[in-house]
Amino acid sequence: MTLRGRLTTAFLAVALGPVVLGVMFVGATVAAVDASRSTERLAVAAATVRTSVDALCQQLRAAADAVALAGDRPAAASQVVRRGLATAVLVTDVTGRVTYDTPGGPPAPWRDCAGPPVVGPVRALAARADLSDRAGGPLGTVTAAQPVDPAFVARLAAVTGVAVTLLDDAEAPIRLVHSTESSGVRDAVLAAAGTLDGERVTETPDGRYVRRVGPSFGQPLPLVLSVPSERPRGLYVALGSAVLVATLLAVVAAWRLARVTTRPLVELAGAVDRVASGDLTTRVPVRSRDEIGRLAGAFNRMTRETGTYVAALTSSRDQLRGHLAVLGDTLASTHDLQRILRVILHSAIAATGARAGAVLLVDDGGVLVAQCTEGLDGPAAADERTGALRVPLGSGVVGAVAATGEPRRGRVDPSATPPGEPRCRTYIAVPFAAPGTAGPPDVTARGDGPAARPGSEPAAPAGALGVLALYDRLGADEFDDDDLVTLRTFAGHAAVAVDNVRVHEEAQRLSLTDPLTGLWNYRYLRESIRREVERATRFGRMLSVLVLDLDRFKDVNDTHGHAAGDAVLAEFARRMRGEIREVDLAFRQGGEEFVLLLPETDARGAAIVAERLGAAIRDEPIAADGHGGAAVAIGVTVSIGIAVHPDHGGTGQQVLDAADDALYAAKAAGRDTWRIAEARAEAPAREIPVPAAATTPEDGMPRAGAPRQPVRARSEPAEPADAEPGSAPAGPGPVGPGPGGGASSGPHPPRQSRGR
Ligand code: GH3
Ligand code: MG
Ligand code: MG
Repeated sequence: MTLRGRLTTAFLAVALGPVVLGVMFVGATVAAVDASRSTERLAVAAATVRTSVDALCQQLRAAADAVALAGDRPAAASQVVRRGLATAVLVTDVTGRVTYDTPGGPPAPWRDCAGPPVVGPVRALAARADLSDRAGGPLGTVTAAQPVDPAFVARLAAVTGVAVTLLDDAEAPIRLVHSTESSGVRDAVLAAAGTLDGERVTETPDGRYVRRVGPSFGQPLPLVLSVPSERPRGLYVALGSAVLVATLLAVVAAWRLARVTTRPLVELAGAVDRVASGDLTTRVPVRSRDEIGRLAGAFNRMTRETGTYVAALTSSRDQLRGHLAVLGDTLASTHDLQRILRVILHSAIAATGARAGAVLLVDDGGVLVAQCTEGLDGPAAADERTGALRVPLGSGVVGAVAATGEPRRGRVDPSATPPGEPRCRTYIAVPFAAPGTAGPPDVTARGDGPAARPGSEPAAPAGALGVLALYDRLGADEFDDDDLVTLRTFAGHAAVAVDNVRVHEEAQRLSLTDPLTGLWNYRYLRESIRREVERATRFGRMLSVLVLDLDRFKDVNDTHGHAAGDAVLAEFARRMRGEIREVDLAFRQGGEEFVLLLPETDARGAAIVAERLGAAIRDEPIAADGHGGAAVAIGVTVSIGIAVHPDHGGTGQQVLDAADDALYAAKAAGRDTWRIAEARAEAPAREIPVPAAATTPEDGMPRAGAPRQPVRARSEPAEPADAEPGSAPAGPGPVGPGPGGGASSGPHPPRQSRGR
């Protein structure tokens, strides 16, 4: 049942109860008053009936007495009848024989007024007087009679003012003789009278009160008296109508009242339903200032605030989605570590609602260096590129986090910030380690404050890469555990990114270097020579190219084994690196063939280098493990071909080819020597001064000669297809450093190769 239904019912009960009770009271009272008044009227009528009958009987008795006392009885009787004192007079003798009878008397049976009440029909009332002689002896009787006819009953009714019915018999079943009742109610009155005795009064269904009178002593007539009810006609109909109208009015009023009362609640319930199904724009009208009005107001406020909150959440979720998309794109599409870390930091700040943050990486010297910062002020933000934010491991918050490998969060007194660290009120810092190396944190450093162990240098946990730190959560709160979880995720991203970039760098390095010697490989040679020729052309500088080939290296392999040959190659590369500048590039072209690029170097300079190289190899046999592990010293020599850009070729390939030709010339000249390519006819030779201090190229790649540990993976590079010894090209051969040489001559005379 709805609230409206219950309210309607309650109101109906309250409003209709008194109406119904009142109507019932009025009805009952009217009925009671009516019954008692009717009973009273009937009692009065009954008394009047007795009096009338008694008066008639006395009149008849007087008439009989007058006839009995008269001398001429027939004349007296006629006179009595004529004067209306009786209807008939009957004279009998002692034996009961009728001696005189007035004509036209009423039919039998007559009922004697003085007789006992008897059962039986009555047609006339009679009174007797005894006849006696002078001595008092009985002579007979005189009886005066009056018929009990409709006129008599009507007179009784007129005297008493009630309807009178003469019964045929006092016993059941009773029948009616004469009645003043209207014929429509006679049966009902008779039926009611059949149930009565004494002075009781009853009511017929059609609203008449009935009682019986007689037969009794002095009143021998069996009569029924009845009066109509005095209740106003249609009283009950009127009362019923009143109740009906009241009910209708009450129903309408109750329904309206319930509607008015429950309408705000219904609206509120509907609104709550709509809000529950997600429509936060729902509002309810505030119609009053009562409790329901307050409820509606509170509901509206609540919905509005929830809507604002949801909108804020949605926008922050969208923002976060955007950040994550950018983060994903960045992670997937670039190996630019700075950019990746910046995006990670930005996303972490956006996700946690921090003001500032920094990503710091552990450098080789065990110092945390900020790679990127956002929102920092003060000295820490001075210049992130130069690593102004530098925190030694174990020092300050981030130092301790990196040293222990345990995240930290909390609140600091801004005035007590350690020097060099960002000023902040709240912070959270999460360490990250190379994926798969998150070893247990260094227990010796755990829990130590920044200044707890001055002088001692805590070690970073195994694989520690850095720290992701955020400062000053927006709002008054500290960073919480949820932030910690979020930040751990971003720190994980940072770790993967750093690791990826490092792996990528290593892979790139490996793809361009020769694993046996650690020199650049043939792939990088092609790229480098193109670049160096371009650079030399642009700046009008010279570029020397040296092609080196170990002499009779096949014999080294054959004599001492392949492993010893490898050792010779590695040592040769080492010595070669020792003889060149930082800016020079050394390549293993394949097999036992090598290439040197000497930027800003002319043929003379290149020849000096070639001479020095030859000596460095020649002068000291290379120690290696021969067959069966026996230590052997292997004497090796090298032949070198030199070509110079632009003198010997306009493109890298042309210069390389020219140097190759010069190499063949050197081989042909007996090996262990160098030759300079023959000058091209169209390109006049020119000397370019070589700067004393070479500049570092800006390609960012590792330099030949820089310390490195080559990966000791054994891989056999393909032999270059060219540089076949003994297949020296025809025509004017390359010129060696001997007398009558080419563009320039080396400081040493050509030498025959040794050890062959
Ligand atoms: P020359 O150049 O003086 O004419 O004689 P050569 O014996 O050096 O000439 P050749 O080019 O015929 O031989 C090159 C040899 O170098 C063949 C091969 O066995 C050897 N070799 C090539 N690459 C490697 C390597 O990576 N390791 C070892 N141990 N030997 C190699
Ligand atoms: Mg060779
Ligand atoms: Mg060789």
